[in-house]
Amino acid sequence: MTLRLLLLLPFCLAALAAEPDWPKIQAETLKHFQALIRMDTSDPPGNESEAANYVRQVLEAEGIPVKTFTKVPNRPNLVARLKGNGSKRPILIVGHTDVVNIDPSKWKEHGPFSADRAGGYIYGRGTVDDKDNLVSCLMTMVTLKRLGVILDRDVIFLAEAAEEGNSSIGAGFIADEHWAEIDAEFCLAEGGGAMRRGGKLISVNIMTSEKIPARAVLKTSGTAGHGSVPRLDNAIARLSSAVEKAANWQPPMKLNDTTRTYFERLATVSGPEQAARYNGLANPDRSAAIQEYMRANEPAHYSMLRTSISPTIFHAGYRNNVIPAAAEATLDIRALPGEDLDAFFAELKRKIGDDQVEIQRQPLGRPASPVSRLDTEMFKTLEAMQRKHYPGAVTLPSMLTGATDMSYFRAKGMQCYGVGPLLDVEELEKGYGAHSDQERILEDELYRFLRFQYDAVVAVSAHN
Ligand SMILES: [Zn+2]
Repeated sequence: MTLRLLLLLPFCLAALAAEPDWPKIQAETLKHFQALIRMDTSDPPGNESEAANYVRQVLEAEGIPVKTFTKVPNRPNLVARLKGNGSKRPILIVGHTDVVNIDPSKWKEHGPFSADRAGGYIYGRGTVDDKDNLVSCLMTMVTLKRLGVILDRDVIFLAEAAEEGNSSIGAGFIADEHWAEIDAEFCLAEGGGAMRRGGKLISVNIMTSEKIPARAVLKTSGTAGHGSVPRLDNAIARLSSAVEKAANWQPPMKLNDTTRTYFERLATVSGPEQAARYNGLANPDRSAAIQEYMRANEPAHYSMLRTSISPTIFHAGYRNNVIPAAAEATLDIRALPGEDLDAFFAELKRKIGDDQVEIQRQPLGRPASPVSRLDTEMFKTLEAMQRKHYPGAVTLPSMLTGATDMSYFRAKGMQCYGVGPLLDVEELEKGYGAHSDQERILEDELYRFLRFQYDAVVAVSAHN
């Protein structure tokens, strides 16, 4: 061994930091996870401070500095940072401390804040949304610190409040007013996860994009009068016709990098008929028929193809013998990333074809955010970690038809990827998914996810 190599050795050893003592870390993960599940952070009202304080104490006990940023009392956002040497831009890992509300009558054997362990599961609100990500981020920070992993980039942990109800005091607040605290090249947050069907591992979904909530209200007016005297300008009839035209309009299909890759790879783990459909989407001869099939049978996939329109609220009338002077309906429009909304609404107006129908655009539900790229070091690392931790599956970049807090970060250029633990798809039918009547997680899958996330963070951040 040359002198040069000898001199380098200590750095290499530090860089290759010992493999974590997983049994010990899992025991700690369980302790923290159960403690966090037992805190009622139902949103509203949230009251996330108890959970944030708990996370702070665990981090500070390891010597990791913590800051909090609070817009509304009792609802703090927490940021912790492990410093790197600055040769690469930071990575941000995110979990939210609040959980969605519960209906106590729906929780059968195990209470919503029990964190009971039974049959391999841990029960409670937040077990899959999002205290799983929260505790995984926490233990990633703790483990990196303890092992003294030398970092090329800062690793930043954001434990955000209010994800379920009001991002303007959580992610939106941090993005708008404290951006420097979380500015990073990459982020990992909720919104993805491995999928298993019938006990067979199918995919690891990495959420790389989401649709943009771009709602609109249609308004009509007409002559009010007695219901016994029909009028041609009846506001309800006019509105009904407009709503029907809007709902039946099929904006053009537009695939992006994520959805194109999603369907290509999904085909490789699907039966022959399904595979032929997914592969045929881009074929001009077959595409229309396939889209119609999806419209009827795979509505979530259909929504990934285009900007979508769902009428959701209809307000009109108050007495059975009075023609009302006005009527209005809400359209829940979910735009594809990159959609030209001015052009979209101009076309909607043309489709409705009635000057007496006013289209009132609502403010965007979340910022318009671009698709995160598939050619980044982060995405490629997640693919490698899928092969290591979920062998036999395929990595599926996915577009969420809903919306998440990642849109605030993507809108500012951060490349964000949604990750999460394995979920058996049957869990949704049984009523145990995120926002379901009950919620639970397979304990071993929480630990597998932690190892997946930790390894991914080390792979893109550790100095070597
Ligand atoms: Zn969530």
